[in-house]
Amino acid sequence: MRRRAFLRCAAAGLLLTLGLSLQAGRQVEVYCKEKGCGFRTPVALGGGFQFCQAVGWCAACKDLVGVNWPRSGARPDKTRPLGTAWNPATGKSAEVYRCPKCAGLFLALQEAEELKVCPKCAKPSLAVDSTKALMYD
Ligand SMILES: [Zn+2]
Ligand SMILES: [Zn+2]
Repeated sequence: MRRRAFLRCAAAGLLLTLGLSLQAGRQVEVYCKEKGCGFRTPVALGGGFQFCQAVGWCAACKDLVGVNWPRSGARPDKTRPLGTAWNPATGKSAEVYRCPKCAGLFLALQEAEELKVCPKCAKPSLAVDSTKALMYD
């Protein structure tokens, strides 16, 4: 999926070049529907006008982590994916990155909806709260 991520970056870069006032990133909140769990986290995907971003869940850190790199100019090596892995939950390949906090690995999310199983209570009860959707640049 390196190509897809690249294309998304390139498309946003092109829009930026054209001067269109379209925001590049989207943030929603993902929450757990299980009573008493209370898990909730903001998920920002797509990067911004100035940067690209890969975000995923680090099982070791028990947190959403991300790697950012500038849209223009050279991409630092440490922000490059280690490779891709096929995600059987989505049927798509996704890039694997090194967690910047613990040096473990995480699978980059393409959509917030891919978060299905709650990392706190382990039930398949996550949902996207689009009322908290936020576009940003
Ligand atoms: Zn980590
Ligand atoms: Zn939960």
